[in-house]
Order: sequence, then structure tokens, then C-alpha cells
Amino acid sequence: MPRYEYRCRSCGDTFEVSRPMAESSAPAACPAGHDDTVKLLSAVAVGGSASAGPAPAGGGGGGCCGGGCCG
Ligand SMILES: [Zn+2]
Repeated sequence: MPRYEYRCRSCGDTFEVSRPMAESSAPAACPAGHDDTVKLLSAVAVGGSASAGPAPAGGGGGGCCGGGCCG
């Protein structure tokens, strides 16, 4: 089931909701109970079978010199 990210305009919190695509546009109350939320445009992998591994720590953008391949 895809997950959608929402942001509450009342408290500014962001949260994710797992729901069917048919309900992706339905209102989602924030964890604090506010109804004034907006759905964020986030990349959601739908139908993919391969799951990405854990994100590399430290960031750096994944450039060539970030992974030790330049040494
Ligand atoms: Zn809220």
C-alpha cells in the first residue's frame, strides 16, 4: 500500500499515511487531530519489487568522491 505524506497547516507537522491510491486525495487528519492538512508531492514507489537499502549515512550526494572510488 502506498504511503502519502501530508503536512498539517495548523501545527506544521508532517506525517505519513498508508492508504489505498483511491483514497490518496481524501482528507487526512494530523496526529494531533487537525483537519487542515495538505498532501505533499513525494516520490512514492508503487509496484516496485526491489527495495532500496538503507540510505548512506553522512549524505554528500553520492558523488564519485563520496564513495571512495576516487582513491
Ligand atoms: Zn496538526
